[in-house]
Amino acid sequence: MKKFTSIKTRITIWYTTLMFVLIVVVLALVGGLSYQLSTDSIEKNVILGVTQVSEKLSKRQPGVFEIVENEEEFKNVSIYDADGKYIVGKYIYDATNIPFKEGVPRKESIDGKEYIVYDARMPSPPDKHGGFWIRGLESVNSTILLGKSAIIIVLILIPLILLVTALGGYYITKKAFRPVNTIIQTANDISAQRDISRRIEIAPDAREDELQHLSVTLNRMLDKIENLIKQEKQFTSDASHELRTPISVILAQGEYLVDIAKDEKEKELAQSIVDKANQVSQLVSRLLLLARIDQNRQKFNKEKVDISVLSDIAVDSMKDFAAKKNISLVANVKEDTFAEADESLLLSAITNLISNGIKYGKESGEVLVSASQIGDKTEITVEDNGIGIDKDHIDKIWDRFYRIDDVRNDEYGSCGLGLSMVKSIIELHGGTISVESRLGEGTVFKIVLNN
Ligand code: ADP
Repeated sequence: MKKFTSIKTRITIWYTTLMFVLIVVVLALVGGLSYQLSTDSIEKNVILGVTQVSEKLSKRQPGVFEIVENEEEFKNVSIYDADGKYIVGKYIYDATNIPFKEGVPRKESIDGKEYIVYDARMPSPPDKHGGFWIRGLESVNSTILLGKSAIIIVLILIPLILLVTALGGYYITKKAFRPVNTIIQTANDISAQRDISRRIEIAPDAREDELQHLSVTLNRMLDKIENLIKQEKQFTSDASHELRTPISVILAQGEYLVDIAKDEKEKELAQSIVDKANQVSQLVSRLLLLARIDQNRQKFNKEKVDISVLSDIAVDSMKDFAAKKNISLVANVKEDTFAEADESLLLSAITNLISNGIKYGKESGEVLVSASQIGDKTEITVEDNGIGIDKDHIDKIWDRFYRIDDVRNDEYGSCGLGLSMVKSIIELHGGTISVESRLGEGTVFKIVLNN
């Protein structure tokens, strides 16, 4: 069987992963773009500062050096002489060693930090020698630092966001899927309790969605199935009821024919009518009993029943049948072993199990009925050392009309209703019945009732 994975878990895993990928991609794009934009703006600033100072210098205005030294807007500009010797302005020791490149904005690492550097050259006037280098430089470290702290914050936030998303999403899907659980629960209850009258509960304020529609549709389908089953039960009950009178007539007249038979041949023919009529009569009674139990119409008088007495009655009624196969039929029940039961129904259940023990028993075999009280329960067992039941069939023997070996069973006019009737009777008592069997060795049926 494949491993069960809940749809809720699958959906939660799917969107949490998607969310994670989305966050990472969006952050990478936003981070990369904002880094680019901020270095671009720093570069523009540096170039602007250098250009302004260079314009002032080109006009040889006095006091340019002071401007560079004192004015805030030129704090990132420095002036070097034509040989690259620092004169005035922003001073960083390492920056003085960086070779000059005219008009090329670039990134340089100074003192272990990233800087944007831009150089402009002021040529010397034609009649004088010398000239200057104007260098602008500004750190991009604050941007990198900002980026780093943003990454740390995001790394802390991502798990939090994912946790909230996963929990919130799981809660919502769980709520949305609640009707599915109710449907599964109801379906299980119906098959476990065999109670087709159960319906899927739909809250009056339930939101109308696909699952609510599914519940309504399933409930309608259950209504139809229940109706069909009711009709089928009613038909079985009516048909069996209608058949009882004609069968009784056939039986009575068959018996009369046996009595007035002129010779052996006629007697044999009449007897076979009686035998078949008896089989049909038994079949009809069982069908009627099953239909009544199914329809909750079976009369049921629970009382304290002495199982030792009941077993003796059952054994006595089956003695002749057992004798035909030379089977020793014994009831071994201590006096005062009681159970809460309807006497006649329980008697027919035990008789049926004994009859099976004889039918499927070996010649000169044994059938034993025993019972004991264990706490508030009474266990009744019917045990034989007959042909046994193959494990492939054992779960099906309770099904109506199920027979393992049609040819052998025809010998006794079996119809496959005996065990289903026994089971229905025991379940009507709120008890249980189980079977253990070994092919070729024998079978034990165990009934458990309250006492
Ligand atoms: P049937 O009327 O055919 O006996 P049951 O419902 O009583 O119908 O039993 C169903 C089938 O279970 C039988 O056909 C038989 O093959 C098998 N079975 C029942 N009881 C026994 C038993 N004690 N030993 C072996 N097989 C059994």
